[in-house]
Amino acid sequence: MTQKLFLEDSYLKEFEAEVVSVNDKYVVLDKTLFYPKSGGQSNDTGTLTRLSDNKEFQVVFAAKINDDISQEVNESGLQVNDKVHGKINWERRYKLMKLHTAAHVLDAVFHEDNGVLITGNELTQEKGRIDFNLKDFSREKVQAFIDKANEIINKDLEVKNYSLNKEEAMKIPGIIKLAKAAPPDLPILRITEISGLDTQADAGTHVKSLREIGKIVFLGIENKGKDRKRVYFDVQ
Ligand SMILES: [Zn+2]
Repeated sequence: MTQKLFLEDSYLKEFEAEVVSVNDKYVVLDKTLFYPKSGGQSNDTGTLTRLSDNKEFQVVFAAKINDDISQEVNESGLQVNDKVHGKINWERRYKLMKLHTAAHVLDAVFHEDNGVLITGNELTQEKGRIDFNLKDFSREKVQAFIDKANEIINKDLEVKNYSLNKEEAMKIPGIIKLAKAAPPDLPILRITEISGLDTQADAGTHVKSLREIGKIVFLGIENKGKDRKRVYFDVQ
């Protein structure tokens, strides 16, 4: 199992690790800061530099394979037991952390309105997208939700991450805000809590306080069907 350093501290930018398996351009390390594409959040990119000869490999993609994280690099050559210095593209990751945390605030605001749930989401470096099972959908209504989310961001609430056993976690109202999501099949859940606002079972990367998000900017809406009212947003 790859040790997931981004869960321990989402602000780390560099790390040292050892290669444990290689399949052509796909490399598994004993530990990593590269967030794999999952939960709607895009993967990290960056570099792995081999310590023995300073050869640099570009990390172009990262994916979760069972409990491991596989880094795809731009060329083959890394070998098992190689020691590497890893560096993530921080500008990209920090933007994703802001979008991801902004998505939590939006989820909470939408959820307050008749228990609206999320039916899909995608966060890339360019923008965020969330689908809601909202019935009454208009630009004005979504703009009002986003204004409310920005008021909450201005309160600069603290964002905390911790672990709870599943039994305790499932007692928290609204812990699962994804429609149709079964509770994760794990004994210990990682919880992300925005003080006084929202608590979710979640293994993504977040900023430490809401003020870091800046401001949510409303980009547009799209009606993709009964349970898929799509909202596009950015942060700046
Ligand atoms: Zn999250």
